[in-house]
Formats: sequence, structure tokens, C-alpha cells
Amino acid sequence: MTDQTTGMGQTLLEERAGDAALESPNYDNEFDAIVVGAGLAGSAAALTLAKRGLEPLLVERGTYPGAKNVFGGVLYTPTIRELTDLDSAPLERYIAEKRFSMLSHDDETAISIKPGEWNREPHNDSFTVLRGDFDEWFAEQAVEAGATLVTETTVTGLIRENGGIVGIETDRPDGEIRAPYVVLAEGGNSLVSEGANLKATESRENIAVGVKEVLEFPENDEAIQDRFRLVGDAGVSYHYFGEGAVGEAYGGGFIYTNSDTVSVGVAYSLEDAATKHQTPEETLNLFKSHPAVAPLLRGARTVEYTAKTIPEGGAETMPDLVHDGAVLVGDTAGLVLNNGVHLEGTNMAVESGYHAADAIATAAERGLTSADALSSYADALENSFVVQNLERYGWLTDRVEEDRDLLFEQLPSAVADAGTEYFRMDRAPKEAHARAAKQRIFETLGGWTGAMKLAMRYRKLVR
Ligand SMILES: Cc1cc2nc3c(=O)[nH]c(=O)nc-3n(C[C@H](O)[C@H](O)[C@H](O)COP(=O)(O)OP(=O)(O)OC[C@H]3O[C@@H](n4cnc5c(N)ncnc54)[C@H](O)[C@@H]3O)c2cc1C
Repeated sequence: MTDQTTGMGQTLLEERAGDAALESPNYDNEFDAIVVGAGLAGSAAALTLAKRGLEPLLVERGTYPGAKNVFGGVLYTPTIRELTDLDSAPLERYIAEKRFSMLSHDDETAISIKPGEWNREPHNDSFTVLRGDFDEWFAEQAVEAGATLVTETTVTGLIRENGGIVGIETDRPDGEIRAPYVVLAEGGNSLVSEGANLKATESRENIAVGVKEVLEFPENDEAIQDRFRLVGDAGVSYHYFGEGAVGEAYGGGFIYTNSDTVSVGVAYSLEDAATKHQTPEETLNLFKSHPAVAPLLRGARTVEYTAKTIPEGGAETMPDLVHDGAVLVGDTAGLVLNNGVHLEGTNMAVESGYHAADAIATAAERGLTSADALSSYADALENSFVVQNLERYGWLTDRVEEDRDLLFEQLPSAVADAGTEYFRMDRAPKEAHARAAKQRIFETLGGWTGAMKLAMRYRKLVR
């Protein structure tokens, strides 16, 4: 237990005269830190705090960690691997193939990436998981390291004293718990952080809605291996764009293979869900019924249906990460990269939980709780892949939105038509087919000038 006021030399005390810790808040002295939410960010924070010798309390509203957690399906593990041994982790399959498909009304044009290296350890640190299993295991790692986990407990608010956060209120009788640090790891639907004015409510344009089904194949044990051409623990991540995937909405569809099930879903702009009257259920059904998708899922039965929002504002809308006595991590801090090519939040959640805990442990050694004392968390995140990646792709979402008709409707159709034309089997010479294919693409892009302009608009993607 970290005592906030004892054991400090007089000089040090004077140095810290401005620090909130010295205003003597009334802590319970039971826990050094409280982590709200046992998702990936929360368990990473609790595990790191415990490994640094602190006693964190991990509070989860679900009946067990992961019980309420929704995501598409690929967990990225470079940071988790640094925090704990992955050997006993409930991983489903490693990703051996990434496939990107453009779907128009009834066509598919795809690119598949299948490097041999991904078949070897550490499998590019990309694995499908079921969050109910994985999150429970990850929280257990934190508990084994010394964290205390309480489940079925919803945090309903934060306690403030002298402007700083000094604890939480919960839905339990006598449910106040006080501690010097609170880590807000409550995910994207961050009612507690918003209620305490630690972040603004995200605007609808910066939120996507994700809906996912887990499907099993009750009458075909070999369906997953056969249809996705898998051997052993290999798995696939298939991403789909275009009108055929999500209709008029801005977003895409996905299929990920688990050991005995597949995860199938769509993620698209909440604004479109509201204004285009495209419900998540309709959009998912549209995707599942596309002629390129339906045969992969034939005979499948739904065993789980979940929906959740994804923060998409990127670096621009990131809230202040540190406050007196509190830090924001993971989706609560808006740390998700969702740009069509990448859908990554799990790695960012874990990385942020780790850096936040590291900053807390360092501040605790000095007996400090102020935002200033915790600012090394914000600095570390700025210098990590998390903020760098969000900044790198910040421009992309807006640009794709501007070009959405071209990219999601016109181009997928044109590419499919051009492919049909190029490979057309008739008695005309190949040159005529090639010319017709080129013309179809150029008509859509606006000739060489249009093609060059488009390439220039997206050149940063390959820089
Ligand atoms: C449809 C969809 C598909 C996705 N696909 C991928 C993907 O394939 N790969 C990827 O890397 N990322 C993906 N993401 C993003 C990824 O899921 C998130 O970035 C990641 O889960 C964030 O982790 P977190 O710990 O911040 O939040 P969460 O995982 O949401 O965890 C928050 C935890 O806090 C708990 N909680 C919330 N409020 C309270 C409260 N008041 N009191 C107590 N407990 C509380 C919740 O029950 C939960 O356990 C996807 C997201 C969605 C919605």
C-alpha cells in the first residue's frame, strides 16, 4: 500500500506543495488504484500495476471479464506478449491470410495476402479470440500478479475532492471506494468519464456501429477448414468494402475464423445508420446474403449476436488523457484505428493500459497524484505507435468520406466490369478486351488526369 503522506523528507514535501496529494484526500487505504472495466486496457493496467508492486482493484460490471465485450475478432498481441506469457492464452487461430474484397451488387474483386512468415511463431502477433474467453484469462493474469477483481459491480460515478478524482461510486450498497488513482478503462461507451466531465460526448460522425454474429456449422465439422482452405491452427481475416458489403453506408464487412466458429459482422458510420435508415440487422443480412459471402456461411447457425459502437475520431478528438487522480485508456480515450485497411483497437488498448499504469507506479513512488505527475503517460503514448498511427491515418477517414461514392460504389463496379471485360472469352482479339477494360476504369476515374489526382490524394498511404 502506498502511503501518500508519510515517509517523505521535508524538502520533498515542500517541492510537492502544489500537488493534489498533499491536500490529504480521504482514501480507504485498501487499494493503491482502482481500474474501471476489466477489458483489455483495464486488465493490462491492473497487471502492470500489480507487477510494479501496487495493489489495484479491478472493477467489472459483467458476471465475468469479457462477458459483455464485443469485437470483430483479431487480437493483436505484441504488447500482451511483453506483459505475460501467452502460452496458456485461449487463442483460437493465428491469421495466415488477410483478404480484401471489393463487393459491388453481385461481383467480388479481391486481393489476398498470405506470407509464409505468418505461419511461423510469433504469427505476426495476430490471433482470433473470443473475448469471453480471452478477457477472463487476461484478468486472471492480473489477479495472479496481485490485483483484486470484483465482478457484477457497475461504477456509477467518480468521487471528487478538491477538484481531483479520489475514488468511485458503484451500484453496490455502501458502494464508495476511494484510492489515489482511478484508471478509466470502461470502453467506448464511457458514461462514467463523460459524467465526470473528463471527456466530451463523441459526436455521431465520429462513431461507427459494429454488429457481429458468431456462427457455427452444426452439420459440417470440416466447413471452416474446407471453405477457408485452412490447415492446423491457421485462420483468415477477410475484409469487404463497397456497396455490396454495407449498401449506401460508409464502412465494411468482415469474416474471421475461430477454431470451430466464424465471426461475421459489419461496422459502419452511426450517422449513416441514423440518416439512411439502415439498421444494423438489415446491413448484416445484406452482407451475409452477397453471392461472394453466402456460400462461405451456408448451413451456419447463429450462436451469438452482439452490437457495439466504435470510436473513430482518431488523434484529433482524443480527450485529455490525464487528470488529477485519473487517467483515460483504451476506447475510453478513443484509441481505435479503423480506416478500412486496419481495424485495430486491441493493441492500442493494451499499450495505453501499460503506459498509464507505468506512469501511475512512478507517480506513486513519489507520492504524487496530480495530472502533472501523471503526464508521463500522455508523453509515452504520444511517442508510441498508438498516437503515431492515429495521426498518420487521421486524414484518411475524411478523404474517404469525400470520395465515398467513387470508392464504395463506382470503383468496385468498374473494377469488376474491367475484370470481366479483360478475361472475356469470345472471338475478339485480347487487345480489344484490354482496351475495353482500361476504358471502363478510366471513364470512372476521369481519364489519366483523374487517375493521377486520385493517386495524389492517397499517396500518403504508401509513404
Ligand atoms: C464490431 C467491432 C469489431 C472490432 N474488431 C476489432 C478487431 O478485429 N481487432 C481489434 O484490434 N479491435 C477491434 N475492435 C476494437 C476493439 O474491440 C476495442 O478497441 C477494444 O476492445 C478496446 O478495449 P477496452 O479495454 O478499451 O474496452 P472494452 O473492451 O470495451 O472493455 C471495457 C470493459 O469495461 C467494462 N465496463 C464498462 N463500463 C463499466 C462500468 N461503468 N463499471 C464497470 N465496468 C464497466 C465493460 O464491461 C468491459 O469489460 C472492434 C470493435 C467493435 C465494436
